[in-house]
Amino acid sequence: MGIVDNVKSMAAQRAPRILAVKSAMNITPNMRRITLHGDELKSFPADSEGAYVKLIFNVAGHDKPAMRTYTISGQRYEPNEIDIDFMMHISPNGNVDGLAAPWALHAKTGDEISVGGPGPAKFINPEADFFLLAADMTALPALTENLKRLPKDAKGHAFIEVFTEADKQSLSKPENVAIHWVVNDAPGSDKSPLFQALAQVTVGDGQVSAWIACEFKTMKKIRLFLKDERNLAKSHLYISSYWKKGDTEEQHKRVKQADAKQLS
Ligand SMILES: Cc1cc2nc3c(=O)[nH]c(=O)nc-3n(C[C@H](O)[C@H](O)[C@H](O)COP(=O)(O)OP(=O)(O)OC[C@H]3O[C@@H](n4cnc5c(N)ncnc54)[C@H](O)[C@@H]3O)c2cc1C
Repeated sequence: MGIVDNVKSMAAQRAPRILAVKSAMNITPNMRRITLHGDELKSFPADSEGAYVKLIFNVAGHDKPAMRTYTISGQRYEPNEIDIDFMMHISPNGNVDGLAAPWALHAKTGDEISVGGPGPAKFINPEADFFLLAADMTALPALTENLKRLPKDAKGHAFIEVFTEADKQSLSKPENVAIHWVVNDAPGSDKSPLFQALAQVTVGDGQVSAWIACEFKTMKKIRLFLKDERNLAKSHLYISSYWKKGDTEEQHKRVKQADAKQLS
C-alpha cells in the first residue's frame, strides 16, 4: 500500500487528530520523550500503549504528506495525553536525520502535529514455557509494553540494543526474565551485535515464544536463526523490521513489502 492509500485508509477509519506538544524531555541521552495532548484524544481508544501511530509531515516541495510510524509508550487520560519516545538517530555527518527525529529534537510546547491511527499493538504470544525478546532503541517502547504483559512466572531473556551505556532504562519485568543490554554506537552496522548476543542463548525443551523488532538486516539474521535453526513456529514468532540503515521510512516500506512477497 502506498502512502496515499495508507492516508486514505486511515482517513476512512477516522481523520488524523491534531495534537499539541505538552512537553519534551530527554529520558536518556539519545531517547527524547514528547508528550502530546489535545481534546481530540478524548476519542482515542483506551489501553493503547504499544499500539502505533502515524505522524504526518508536510514536506516542502511535495504535494503529498510523509508519514512516520511511532509507538505509544504511555497514555494518560486526565488530561488527554500520550507519550512517544523518539530515538535521536544520528547520521554519519553528526546530524539528527530525517523528518520525525529532527521534529522531536526541536519540538516545543504548543507545536502542533497531525497524528493518524492508532493501529493495533503486536504482543508476544504468552502461551509458552520460555520467552525471547529483542529490540533496538526504536522498538524499546514496544518491548517495554511486551515485558509488562508477560505472565508473572515467565522465564526467558530480553536483548536490547542501545546507542550508549547511558541509554539503558529501568524496565518492569517478570523476575525470571533476564535483561541483556547490547551497546552499539553504529546502529545498523553489518556486525549486528543484537543478533550475535541472541544467538548465544540456550533454550530448554518446551515451547518458545519470541518477539523481535529492530533494523532490517539484523531482523533478517534473527529470523533465519529462529526459523531455520530453532524451528520456531509462526504462531510463536513475531518479528518485524522497524527501520533500515540508509533508507527513509518510505524506502524501507518498499523493501519490507518485497521481503514479505519473497517469504510467501
Ligand atoms: C511499528 C513501528 C513502531 C515504531 N516505533 C518507534 C518508536 O517508538 N520510536 C522510534 O524512535 N522509532 C520507532 N520506529 C522506527 C521509526 O519509524 C524509523 O526510525 C523512522 O525511519 C524514523 O523516521 P525519521 O523521519 O526520523 O527518519 P527517516 O526520514 O525515515 O530516515 C532518515 C535517515 O535516518 C536513518 N534512520 C532512521 N531510523 C534510524 C535509526 N533508528 N537509527 C539510525 N538511523 C536511522 C534512515 O535509514 C535514513 O538514512 C517504529 C517503526 C515501526 C514500523
